[in-house]
Amino acid sequence: MAGKRSITVAHGDGIGPEIMKATLHVLHEAGAQIEIEEIQIGEQVYLRGITAGIEPSAWESLRRTQVFLKAPITTPQGGGYRSLNVTTRKTLGLYANIRPCVSYSPFVQTKHPIMDVVIVRENEEDTYAGIEHKQTDQVVQCLKLISRPGCERIVRYAFEYARQNNRSKVTCFSKDNIMKMTDGLFHKVYDEIALEYPDIQNEHWIVDIGAAKLADTPEAFDVIVMENLYGDILSDVAAQIAGSVGLAGSANIGEQCAMFEAIHGSAPRRAGQDVANPSGLLLGAVMMLVHINQTEIAGRIHNAWLKTIEDGIHTYDVFTEAHSKKKVGTKDFAQAVVDRLGKRPDKLKHASYKSGSRQSSLSKITTTHRTKKELMGVDLFIHWTGSTNPLAEVMEKMNGDGMKLTMISNRGVKVWPDGFPETFLTDHWCCRFKSETYGTPVNHMHVVKLLERLAKASIDFIKTEHLYTFDGVLGFTPGKSE
Ligand code: NAD
Repeated sequence: MAGKRSITVAHGDGIGPEIMKATLHVLHEAGAQIEIEEIQIGEQVYLRGITAGIEPSAWESLRRTQVFLKAPITTPQGGGYRSLNVTTRKTLGLYANIRPCVSYSPFVQTKHPIMDVVIVRENEEDTYAGIEHKQTDQVVQCLKLISRPGCERIVRYAFEYARQNNRSKVTCFSKDNIMKMTDGLFHKVYDEIALEYPDIQNEHWIVDIGAAKLADTPEAFDVIVMENLYGDILSDVAAQIAGSVGLAGSANIGEQCAMFEAIHGSAPRRAGQDVANPSGLLLGAVMMLVHINQTEIAGRIHNAWLKTIEDGIHTYDVFTEAHSKKKVGTKDFAQAVVDRLGKRPDKLKHASYKSGSRQSSLSKITTTHRTKKELMGVDLFIHWTGSTNPLAEVMEKMNGDGMKLTMISNRGVKVWPDGFPETFLTDHWCCRFKSETYGTPVNHMHVVKLLERLAKASIDFIKTEHLYTFDGVLGFTPGKSE
């Protein structure tokens, strides 16, 4: 084996230091060829006034080693503190979050004895872009951003993962029956990329019924790829129904860097008592060893861990009289794994990792060709506390210079013309202006002049969204008659 590989390690908060110590003990005893650079993250850093929860100097280590083994941290209560996880993922471009959720029946109690699901979650986009605004007294908004390159990278990652790990199916979850553009793009890209992998089955589920099926019949799934928010929620559900959130590890993968962790948090109430289960972090570390191509050691640790679970040596969170033989603390559990290095499970499926199984470069992104983009009008968002018809009267006075009011909506419901008196109204209105001559494009100056008229009339416009067509295809949600 080549020389030692430098990795960056953070011991975290709460149960973090105990489970990290236990994990590193197993790694060293198994012969992992790693050189550790320690950094400080979490509560103490936040409380020193660093709102990102990470010392600026720590980034140098992360960029140098490109591999981060991270224990959970505590995010202090109250505003102003940014999520360290979100910051790390976005700063280091860790676009893929991989969460294997496996049940270990009959050794760990579970309602789903044959569950072996890998959730591949997009990690950078969606509502997690963190673009939020308060626009009126009553309404706040969060932008959901989905990009074609973002979809391509995560979907291709899921299919490559399936191929390299002998998995037979990749399922897509989306809500494209409602979000036809954002989730529609994710689904469309999934369908396109699935064609490149004829050896892997593909299927799509609407996320709500898909989630219900996952919670009820997880054995129906293999690899599931989804956007950020759905993946965040459903990977916790999947880990919990497999047996315990304490058992699942996770990898965050980017083009250059990668971060490995447990999926659970810092469980502060359990800290300092030597009771926490180190399994999630240890399985995250196994994924790290595969990533740095120390696959033989990864397999040794994973199999010793499976054997420990099979032998009924359990921490309190998975211990049951019916399934377990001995309740142990964090240190003794790690020692039990060390004692079993070189052994394999008798009944559970043993782990084996091929050398060089690190995912190949995934930078293959389809070049987006420039389409013919035409401006057809503008949605003007207005802060208005009155009712519909007076607003329509005021806004119709803004017609002119080739632009005309065609529709008013409130929270996405058309209220003018021909609104329903039953519709609940907020102070956040959308007034759609289009070219006076149906179907004829306008230009930016039309919009600027329209805004000028609004400003002169002291109408509180809070934002604009342009209405484009791309090669003649509508790039906005049409009103009824469009
Ligand atoms: P949590 O996952 O820390 O704990 C929830 C409960 O699960 C605990 O009370 C405990 O009973 C159990 N548990 C979790 N991990 C366990 C383990 N390894 N062994 C045994 N039992 C375990 O969730 P929480 O209480 O909502 O969050 C606590 C803190 O962790 C918060 O400050 C939160 O912001 C943070 N957090 C950090 C991360 C991270 O760093 N990746 C992730 C989630 C939450």
